[in-house]
Amino acid sequence: MLPQSITDHLINIVGANNALTSTADLYTHGFDASIHHHTPDIILRPRTAQEIQKIVTLANKQKIPLVPRGAGTALSGQAVPLHAGIVLDITRMDTIKTIRIPDLYCIVEPGVIYGTLNQQLAKHNFFFPPTPGSGDICTIGGMVAINASGMRAIKYGATRDYVLGMDVILPNGDFAQLGTKTLKNSSGYQLERLMVGSEGTLGVITEVTLRISPLPQKRTVALASYTNLEKAGEGVSSIIAQGVIPSALEIMDSVCIKAVNKAMKLDLPDAAALLLIEADGATATEDIQHIAQICKSTGAESITFTDDKKEMQRLWQGRKGVLPSLSRYGDSFVSVSLADDMSVPISRIPQAIVAFQDIAHRHGIIIGTYGHAGDGNLHTKVLLDPNSKSHWRHAEKAVDEIFRTVLKLEGTVSGEHGIGISKAPWMKQERHLALEAMEKIKNALDENNIMNPGKMGQWKGSIISHLRYPWKQKEN
Ligand SMILES: Cc1cc2nc3c(=O)[nH]c(=O)nc-3n(C[C@H](O)[C@H](O)[C@H](O)COP(=O)(O)OP(=O)(O)OC[C@H]3O[C@@H](n4cnc5c(N)ncnc54)[C@H](O)[C@@H]3O)c2cc1C
Repeated sequence: MLPQSITDHLINIVGANNALTSTADLYTHGFDASIHHHTPDIILRPRTAQEIQKIVTLANKQKIPLVPRGAGTALSGQAVPLHAGIVLDITRMDTIKTIRIPDLYCIVEPGVIYGTLNQQLAKHNFFFPPTPGSGDICTIGGMVAINASGMRAIKYGATRDYVLGMDVILPNGDFAQLGTKTLKNSSGYQLERLMVGSEGTLGVITEVTLRISPLPQKRTVALASYTNLEKAGEGVSSIIAQGVIPSALEIMDSVCIKAVNKAMKLDLPDAAALLLIEADGATATEDIQHIAQICKSTGAESITFTDDKKEMQRLWQGRKGVLPSLSRYGDSFVSVSLADDMSVPISRIPQAIVAFQDIAHRHGIIIGTYGHAGDGNLHTKVLLDPNSKSHWRHAEKAVDEIFRTVLKLEGTVSGEHGIGISKAPWMKQERHLALEAMEKIKNALDENNIMNPGKMGQWKGSIISHLRYPWKQKEN
């Protein structure tokens, strides 16, 4: 708990209406979309960079932990205030400051919602492409801090590829302007890149300059169904190897298909695996036909096409609905984000998918696999009864095996959702040769370790702790 004099000081900075201390507010701001939870001491909702600067300066002086928070949709515990302290809710900073089409950039405050920005850019026939599944709610600040991406990364890249510059309040309260408003910049250290993926551990982002792209005028979608999951994986690497780069190439296994059909009544083909493929731009129709041929040659049982907007929307709805639908797969199961977004080199996808299924069978648990297979990014969701200790124990072992498999296949433990708590032990294995350098950077910028402490390289112990499920767990 914070001393009353400090609480009063913090409330003074943002005003009483923008400081929350009720039990309900503290409890609900202890969550993000991960399995973890911890209650903060206070939630502050600043409106300006100047207010943030005052808060950070005080937090640093008093050594109070501080966690910046956007929409709280992070899946690995990044926004959970593990050591209590201040949750800095950035969502009031939601102004799109400028859109400069001839210069190909826009400047936004960090609390702007991804979908809102794209609605405004669409009026100019432009967009900010990363397309996370959470795009209707997640913030630009959260996307930059995690380097979010999504189904169009295969063609358009991730958030980092669009960050030209940003304003940051550093952990000691200093203001820093990083990067430029130009498309190119070779002027020294690319510190704006250092902030990408920093997960709130190196400072608070208060403004972002983003590169923007013209909206493609045409889109076409194909749905290929396979009776064999491994063959579908081979289909993915064959498409890429032939040099046709779709704007999206998604895979769903049978668990995910069943879950979506059950929860959303979408009537997708009951197959071992589906590939949902999108081509865009002037050659979209030719590209999708070429891709369909490749799917056939790799054993696809059926392929359908559409450029009808409603039908494309229905298919994408199915893909976007996988995550929530998985929680309704079985009566007492929930889907938890563990080992949820590793990436492997594209040619290793068939091996990875088969290995994940084998791991699930050996541990007697259900795992749904889906994801942006076109760029090697696979999601697995573990379905378990959160009341059952043995389910958690099996899940932990399975997750360990999944990550070890991914590292053996020369992959990475996170392609887009970041590290936080749930992936920290395996990030340390993957990046062991860079850990010391990472720690030095963190210590140099954040001498008192106030910014989002205990995460990534600082995490110690099992990931099955600080769980969000407060009810009593059964032994079975
Ligand atoms: C249904 C669902 C689908 C999803 N799909 C995708 C997907 O397709 N691709 C993907 O990449 N992710 C996905 N995610 C994960 C998540 O939505 C993204 O990582 C998103 O970018 C997080 O944004 P946020 O605003 O919710 O950030 P938060 O969860 O609030 O915060 C995330 C991290 O960013 C830090 N942070 C936030 N704002 C700032 C700031 N201003 N300055 C410094 N640090 C800051 C926080 O401290 C925290 O460490 C999904 C999540 C859900 C629930």
